[in-house]
Amino acid sequence: MTTEGVGGARGASRPAVGRSTSNLGPKVGETVERFELEKAWLVDPVSGREGPGEIVVIDGMLESVVWLEGEEAKGVTDKGVVVAPGFFDLHAHFREPGFEDAETVATGAAAAAHGGYTTVALMPNTQPALDEPGVLARIRSAAAAGGSPVEVLAFGAVSAGRAGEQLSAMGELADAGVLGYSDDGSPVKSAKLMRSALLYAGMLGLPVVEHAEDLELTTGAEAHEGYVASVLGLAGWPAAGEVQAVSRDIAILTDALLDEPRARLHFTHVSTAEALELVRRAKARGLPVTCDVTPHHLAFTDEWIAGSRRWAWEALDSDGRALDPAARSLDSDGRAHEPAARSRDPWADGALTAAPYNTSLRVNPPLRTAVDAAACLAALIDGTADAVATDHAPHTVVDKEVEFGRASNGISGIETALGVLLALVDAGKLPLARAIAALTTGPAGVIAAAGHTAGTSAARPRGLTEGAPADLVVFDRSDTWRVAPESLLSKGKNSPLLGRELPGRVLLTIAAGRLAYEDPTADED
Ligand SMILES: [Zn+2]
Repeated sequence: MTTEGVGGARGASRPAVGRSTSNLGPKVGETVERFELEKAWLVDPVSGREGPGEIVVIDGMLESVVWLEGEEAKGVTDKGVVVAPGFFDLHAHFREPGFEDAETVATGAAAAAHGGYTTVALMPNTQPALDEPGVLARIRSAAAAGGSPVEVLAFGAVSAGRAGEQLSAMGELADAGVLGYSDDGSPVKSAKLMRSALLYAGMLGLPVVEHAEDLELTTGAEAHEGYVASVLGLAGWPAAGEVQAVSRDIAILTDALLDEPRARLHFTHVSTAEALELVRRAKARGLPVTCDVTPHHLAFTDEWIAGSRRWAWEALDSDGRALDPAARSLDSDGRAHEPAARSRDPWADGALTAAPYNTSLRVNPPLRTAVDAAACLAALIDGTADAVATDHAPHTVVDKEVEFGRASNGISGIETALGVLLALVDAGKLPLARAIAALTTGPAGVIAAAGHTAGTSAARPRGLTEGAPADLVVFDRSDTWRVAPESLLSKGKNSPLLGRELPGRVLLTIAAGRLAYEDPTADED
C-alpha cells in the first residue's frame, strides 16, 4: 500500500508510487492515492526552509510534511533524494497548433513532467498565432485530451498574427485567461506598438513579455558577434542588439507608467551582461520590470559552436572574478565592470572536443561569452533575474540537419533544465535553494505581480504546503541520467547535451495530486 524511499544514504531504494501490493501503480493522469517518502531533503522556497524531512501524500493531497531533527535527520543531506515544489516554466514552445511534427501539447507536457515541471506557460508563436481566444481553446482541449496533469497556460500574442502591425484581441485574450502578451520569436516590432501594448496590457492587469532584439542589428545573424563567430565565419548577432532593445523598452515603460500605472514589462531570455545591468538599474529605480534567464545562457557559451563542451564557468580566465557576484562592480557609467574576467580561447586551450557547427547550438538570442554567462548567474543570484525559463524549443530533424546558419533557432531544453542548474550547484556556483526558487516562486512571482485573476493558479504559492494538492518533484542528486534521443520524451531531440550525463535524475513528478511522471527504472531496483 505504501512505499518508503530512503534518501540520503546511497544505495537506498528509490521511491516509487504504490508498488507494494501490485505492480499496477497509478498511471499518468491518475490521482496518487498514497505516497510516502522518508528521510529526503526537502526544499520549500515559500518558507525559505530546507532540510531533512518526510512527506506523505494521500488521495492527491500533501497530507503531511515533517521536518526531521537530531538523530532522525542523521545522514540525510542535500546530495541525495530531494523533494521540491513542482516547477513552473515561464517560456516554452509546444508547437501546437501548426507544427505538430516538432512537438504537441501532449508530448510537451510529458517532457515537462520528466523535467520536474507541473506548470508551463506556452508562447504564442503557433500557426495560427495565439492572437485570439479560439487558438487558446484548441491548446486547452489538446491538453485535456493528452491526459497529463501538467497545467498548460499560455501567453497571447501582442500583435495580430505576430505581424507587429496591429494589437491582437488583447481584451478577449485576457477574458479567456492568457497570462500576458508576447510576440516571442520576434521582438515587439515598433516602439509605438510597444507603448500601446504596455498601456492596454497594463489596463488589463497583465504583463508584456519581451523577446529583446533590435532586428536592424541582427538580420542574418548566425551566432554571437565575437571571436568565435569571426573564426568560424558566422554572421554576428551583437550584444548591442539586445541592449538596444532592452533600453528602448525601459524608456517606453517609464513613459507609459505615467498614463497607466499598472503597465508591466518582463524580459525573457536575457543573455548579455549589459542588458542585465539595465534591468538591474531599472529595478533599483523601482520600475515594474522583471526578467528571466535560460539554462543554456547560464551554462553554454559560443565556444560550444566551435566544438568546446566545457561549462561556461570553466571557460573564464584563471582570475575567475566574474564567478563571484560580489566582485562585480559598476563603473562611473553604471555599467557592469568585470576587470579581469575574460573568456578563454578554446583553440589555444585545447578545449575543442566535439565537431563544430552543431546546429542544436543555434538559438536566439545566441549563446554568448563566458563573461555573459557569468553575468546571467550573478543576476540570478542577486535577484535581478526573477526566474529561470527554459525557452524549450523543439524542432524536427529536417529543420536542424542543415547548414548552421540555415538551421531553425532553438534548444529542446525542458527536460535538461534541472540537470544544467544542478551542474551549477555541484560546481559550487549556485545554492540549491536559489536554483529551486528560480524554478518555482520566482516565475510565480512574475505572474502574481500582475494582479490579474488569470494568474491565480499560476501565481499560487509554490511551497510544500500541508493540506494542499500535492504538486511536487522528487529527484535524486546522487544519480545521473544520460541525455539521449530515447531518454527525451520531447519530440525535439535538438539538444547539445546528447550523450552527456546530467546530475539529478527525476524520480517522480506529481501535479495537482495526479501522477505526471514516474521514473521507469524505479521499480527495477
Ligand atoms: Zn524568444
